[in-house]
Amino acid sequence: MVKVSKFCNLRCRYCYELHDLGKRERMSLEDIERMSSTVAEHARLEGYELVHFIWHGGEPFLIKPAFYREIAAIQRSVFSGICKVRNTIQTNLTLLPEGFLDLVEEGFFEGVGVSFDPYGSDRVDVRGRRRDEDVIRNLQTLIDRAVPCGAITVLSRGTRDAAVSTFRVFDELRIPHRFLPYYMSADDEQRASQALTFDEIRQAYTEIVDAWLDSKNATTVDPIEEFLRYAIDYLRGDLNPVFDPHTDEFVFIVDVDGGLWGVNGAYDPEEKYGNIFVDSLAQALRSARRSRLVEQIEARMARTCGVCPYRGFCPGKYAAHATAEERRLLDDHGCLVRETVSHILRRLRETGLDRKVAFGPRHDTAIGA
Ligand code: SF4
Repeated sequence: MVKVSKFCNLRCRYCYELHDLGKRERMSLEDIERMSSTVAEHARLEGYELVHFIWHGGEPFLIKPAFYREIAAIQRSVFSGICKVRNTIQTNLTLLPEGFLDLVEEGFFEGVGVSFDPYGSDRVDVRGRRRDEDVIRNLQTLIDRAVPCGAITVLSRGTRDAAVSTFRVFDELRIPHRFLPYYMSADDEQRASQALTFDEIRQAYTEIVDAWLDSKNATTVDPIEEFLRYAIDYLRGDLNPVFDPHTDEFVFIVDVDGGLWGVNGAYDPEEKYGNIFVDSLAQALRSARRSRLVEQIEARMARTCGVCPYRGFCPGKYAAHATAEERRLLDDHGCLVRETVSHILRRLRETGLDRKVAFGPRHDTAIGA
């Protein structure tokens, strides 16, 4: 996940980058070439088949398409003969430059992630105005041009009550969607006004599960889709490998200055693995800080997952990847995944679908239809 620049035209009130959104610094093409070479070398040594770059911000559409075309040229030269490369972009979609659509047609961008709350009022621009009409118009353009897209809605104080309505909007449009409970904070004041309690998130997940089961379209909605897979594997007795933090970490955050973190530690200096513009990935992954974090992850997984009936059906990624906000919830209240899987199993038993999924084809999640 590459933070190409923090600069953004919005000031969403729950954004964990809130204090940096006016900064205009961005990665140079030389930085990106260094990062690409480092990643390509690691991919070659490890025999990876695919590397996926998510271009993130700030708002990455504020950077001209020509910049991304230069990145495409760098990737062609650096990754040639090593592995496939996939590029997607995460945007607030208040802007949709025509040149971006050209980059989709040229095959550089394979998809677009849209951050949007259809019912919230916290996604505002620098003047405090909502930009929903721009987003809806641009989303329609993506749909009309058949650009693969997905959406993310932050579950926060302002969106929680509309969780089911939000699910229905994207379900109706058949756009895969993810709910992301507020999980990283910019400061204490923001946390106090935006963070949800354990019970509020559990209740929202429960309502979304029920709405999904009730839906004719049953469009993919994460993280429910993922939890449903764990529930099905539990019913079938299909064990999955438990997440191993030594070898299975596969999402990394790269800051504008090359700082490298795992998903649970950004931007804590104590949890920084290294700098991808300077260090090799092997060096960063072997760093003393990461070794200490791996030990903490193993202890947390033993504490949380060790007593869980779904361990092995659920690989424990939630406990492993938990951010500081999520660790607070885990320590004080337990695991939201466990609670939601239990709810899914209850619903499957009530409806008799448990027998269908237990003996049906593996990972057939089209049971809502
Ligand atoms: S405690 Fe949570 S993360 Fe761990 S195995 Fe159980 S459901 Fe999964």
